[in-house]
Amino acid sequence: MTNPLFDKLFGKHAGKSTPFLYLGDDTALSHDAFLKMTARFANAIRKLGVETGDRLAVQIDKSPEALAVYAACVQSGIVFLPLNTGYTADEVDYFVGNSGAKLVLCSSKNRQGLIAVADTYNARLETLDGDGTGSFIDIAQDQSDDFDTVERSGDDLAAFLYTSGTTGRSKGAMLTQDNLLSNALTLVDYWQFTSKDVLLHALPIFHTHGLFVACNITLAAGGAMIFLPKFDIDQVIENLPRSTSMMGVPTFYSRLLDDERFTKDRVSHMRLFVSGSAPLLADTHIQFENRTGHRILERYGMTETNMNTSNPYEGERRAGTVGFPLPGVELKVCDPETGIEVPTGDIGVIEVRGPNIFKGYWQMPEKTKEELRSDGFFITGDLGKIDEYGYVTIVGRNKDLIISGGYNIYPKEIELILDDQPDVLESAVVGVPHADFGESVLAILVPQKGMQINIAAIEENVRKSLARFKQPKRYEIVEELPRNTMGKVQKNILRDQYKDK
Ligand code: ATP
Ligand code: MG
Repeated sequence: MTNPLFDKLFGKHAGKSTPFLYLGDDTALSHDAFLKMTARFANAIRKLGVETGDRLAVQIDKSPEALAVYAACVQSGIVFLPLNTGYTADEVDYFVGNSGAKLVLCSSKNRQGLIAVADTYNARLETLDGDGTGSFIDIAQDQSDDFDTVERSGDDLAAFLYTSGTTGRSKGAMLTQDNLLSNALTLVDYWQFTSKDVLLHALPIFHTHGLFVACNITLAAGGAMIFLPKFDIDQVIENLPRSTSMMGVPTFYSRLLDDERFTKDRVSHMRLFVSGSAPLLADTHIQFENRTGHRILERYGMTETNMNTSNPYEGERRAGTVGFPLPGVELKVCDPETGIEVPTGDIGVIEVRGPNIFKGYWQMPEKTKEELRSDGFFITGDLGKIDEYGYVTIVGRNKDLIISGGYNIYPKEIELILDDQPDVLESAVVGVPHADFGESVLAILVPQKGMQINIAAIEENVRKSLARFKQPKRYEIVEELPRNTMGKVQKNILRDQYKDK
């Protein structure tokens, strides 16, 4: 019997008393205890009538139990479908309907609101809370610690992961066992993870970053995680000395830098800090190195592809770049109209191909056809360029490109200049409708703490460094940029907010 994803991530740890999950104190759940819980859950899921190939949707708080539900799905060949805990019942309705999930696990506080959803789609609803209690646990309690792992092949579906919905409605990316496993094994190697690693895990586990990157790598390497319910600055600072590595979104790192307890001493023993999901400001990268002596390793990936590129572990980690295509991943930069590769250094749409690329969007054949070429290249929708040394830089999303008076304007180019202006913490540049030009450039600025931004002075500087057609026609100052849970700036919200002004 084989089930490659289960065998290589989970099964091989059966019987090991080594620590797997530290729960923010000194108690640890061992690999073996985790696997026994997994088997009980797999039996419980079966008992609830969910069969191999069915979907199981979860909207539950992060906990060891929540992770064991993922493991149980892999073991029993059920497609795992984790949902953002922030979604409302109406939003969950779409995902349950779209995926045809047979079983939905939710927090007890959301149960009442989700009964109607489950009824509509004939799905069974059980609860699982962050403290490891709930109706699902009651059912699992009496189940056997043994479960006959269901045979699967690398091509079978392991998960539907919905995209973050930054540019429109979330799409369900169908990910196979091989998609997940190939990427995990590549990254273990590339980032040199071993069984000695203790990863500080403060990310959510409904997203590819916290679930597949962080957990799959740790499992494949046989290491442990300090599994925090969320990013709580006090808990993170307290647990850093016990960790060897950490993965985070850029806001984790800027928040750490804002805290004076975050010192060189506290992280002197650390091996690796990884950043992704959103662009890391070059400034954060440099400040981080000045403070700690560590260079954050930035990588680039997405729901549909897992990880595509990474800065090197040994070589130079370049601020503002996402490094090189990972081994086994082909990456090219193409003209969005013709699909033909552009010359080195030019900007175009990034396309990727490799064992990591998803099977398509669930029940969206048209969308799949638009984005997944017949030769296997996936059109990411991200704009980028490759320099002569092979470093890839992301300059933004194709959808955020501003076309004004027939000119292409890349927001990132303007944002980099604005970020460097006195008293500016960060910026976002978007296109808003304009009667003559089609779109015009709007700059939204966030001041540094306690500072006043002088727009006239910035305009003056911008006039010196940017061609006239790229200069923002209007500036707005806001306290903070709208971000989703993964720290991504929601430019669609900004465009909407300022479209009529
Ligand atoms: P949707 O596809 O629903 O609009 P989304 O693309 O934000 O949402 P994800 O799959 O979570 O959903 O995010 C992938 C995107 O995140 C990438 O396409 C890219 O734009 C961005 N991203 C990830 N890592 C980086 C990085 N290191 N630098 C810049 N952007 C990044
Ligand atoms: Mg996307």
